[in-house]
Amino acid sequence: MTIPSQLFVDGAAREGVSNHRTTLINPATEESFGSVAAADPMDVSQAVESAHGAWVSGWRDLSPGKRGEILYAVARVLRENQEWLAQLETLHIGKPIADARDEAGLGARVFQFYAGAIAQFGGQTLPVGRGGFDFTLRQPMGVVACIVPWNFPLPIACWKAAPALAAGNCVVLKPASLSPLTALALGELAHRAGLPSGVLQVLPGSGAAVGEALATHPLIRKVSFTGSTEVGRRIMELAARDVKRVSLELGGKSPNIVFADADWQRAADTSPMSVFANTGQDCCARSRMFVERAIYEPFVERFVAATSKLVVGDPTRPETQLGPLVSAAQRATVEGYLADARANSTRFAFGGKRSQSKGFYLEPTVLVDVDPGQRCWREEIFGPVVCIAPFDDEKRMLQEVNASPYGLSGSIWTNDLRRALRVVRAVDSGVLSINSHSSVHVEAPFGGFKQSGLGRDLGMAAMEGYTELKNVYVAE
Ligand code: NAD
Repeated sequence: MTIPSQLFVDGAAREGVSNHRTTLINPATEESFGSVAAADPMDVSQAVESAHGAWVSGWRDLSPGKRGEILYAVARVLRENQEWLAQLETLHIGKPIADARDEAGLGARVFQFYAGAIAQFGGQTLPVGRGGFDFTLRQPMGVVACIVPWNFPLPIACWKAAPALAAGNCVVLKPASLSPLTALALGELAHRAGLPSGVLQVLPGSGAAVGEALATHPLIRKVSFTGSTEVGRRIMELAARDVKRVSLELGGKSPNIVFADADWQRAADTSPMSVFANTGQDCCARSRMFVERAIYEPFVERFVAATSKLVVGDPTRPETQLGPLVSAAQRATVEGYLADARANSTRFAFGGKRSQSKGFYLEPTVLVDVDPGQRCWREEIFGPVVCIAPFDDEKRMLQEVNASPYGLSGSIWTNDLRRALRVVRAVDSGVLSINSHSSVHVEAPFGGFKQSGLGRDLGMAAMEGYTELKNVYVAE
C-alpha cells in the first residue's frame, strides 16, 4: 500500500522547508511504520500565497457548471479509491475497517452533494418597494483554512473542503498531527480528478506551528475548525485580530434520555454503540444517559449485556466494532477519568481495564448511579466510557441536561409524540434525534449550541458559511 509521506502543495507532493518529520505509529500494535513531512510557518506562507494566486487567476471565476463537474469527478475518484483510503485510516488511527470503509464512502458522498448543490446556490431578490429593486449575491471569500481533528479525519476534511470549494474558495487543509494520511490522499486524488494546482493545499504539522500560522495569516479569510473547545477558543482569539470569519465545531457531552414509555429494550440494545463507536472518540458520543427510574434497573442490565457482546480488537478484521484508542496519551487521559471515578466510589457495571497486552486498548466501560457532580459526568472524556443515572422528574432532568456547557447532539427515547416535541424544544443542542442515535446527515446542518461551537457544517448552511453576503440596490 502506498503511504503518503509529504506535504501536498501546488498539485505535487514535497518536503517541508525545514525537513521536519513526524513518526507514524499504528495504535493497534504500538509499532512505527514510517514518517510524514511536517510543515512549518514558512510552508504555510508559501501555500497560502499560492492558493490565493490560484483563486485570483482562475478558481473564483470558473463557471458554476465547471466547478460542479470537477467536484463530481473528485467524488468518483474518491469512490474508486475507497479501499485505499479505508486501509490508511485503519493503519494509522486504529479505526475498525468496516467503519473506515463507510467513512471513505461518506467523503465521496459529501463531494457529490456539493457538486450538485452549486446549481441550487445563489442570492435572492427582495421586495423593497417601488422605485427600484434589491438583490443579494453570495460571493466566495478567497482562501479558507480548514483545521481538522483525528477522530473522523477523512469525512470532516471532506465536509469542510467540499462546500468551501463549491462556493468558489481555495482551501488550505491542516489535518491533525496524529492523522495526516487520508487528508494527503484527498489532496492527491482531488488533483488527479481535475482540481487545479493550488486550489486545495494539504499541510500536516503541529497545531502550534501550522494551525496558528493559518489563523493569523492575512490572506486567510476564514478559519473553519473542528476540534476541542480549548483550541477553538484560541483560534477565535487569533482570528479576532483581523476579524477573520470562523466556524467552530467543538466538544460535546451529549445526553441520551430514555423515558419509561419508550421501546426501551431497543434503546438499551442500541445505545452502547451510540457512545462506544469509534472507541468513544466521537464529539456526538451519548456519554450521559438519563433513564427514567421505573425502567432503570432492567435497562442497565440489558445495556450491560449488549456492551459485553461488542467485538473489541484488531481493527483490520471486518467484525471488529471497537479498535484501540488513537494514542498512548489519549488512553492515559481516559484512564485518569477512570481513576477519579474509582476514587469517588463510582460503581463500575462493566469494563474499566486495558483489554489487550499490545495496542492502546481499553474496555468499553459502564459507570452507573453516577452523581452529576463528578468529573466523569461533566467533562468530555473522549474515550469508551458512559455514565448512567436515573431520573424521576422531567423538568429536573432537563435542568441537569442543560447544565452542561456543551450542546452538540443527543437522543430522546419515547413513544409519546407530545413529550418528544416538548423535550426537543427544551434541550439546548444543535442536533437531536428521536428514537435513534443518528447525528450526521450530509444534507442537514450539523453543529453545536453554547461551547460546542459556532456556525454549521454540512447541508446548504455550510455553503452559506463559506461566502460573504453582498446586497445591491438598483434604481429603476
Ligand atoms: P484538538 O483541538 O487538539 O486539535 C484539532 C486540530 O487543531 C488539530 O489539527 C490540531 O493540530 C489543531 N490545533 C491544535 N492546537 C492548535 C492551535 N493552537 N492553533 C491552531 N490549530 C491547533 O482536537 P483533537 O484532539 O484533534 O480532537 C478531539 C476534539 O475534537 C474533541 O474535543 C472533540 O469533541 C472535538 N470534535 C468535535 C467535532 C464536532 O463536529 N463538533 C467533531 C470531531 C471532534
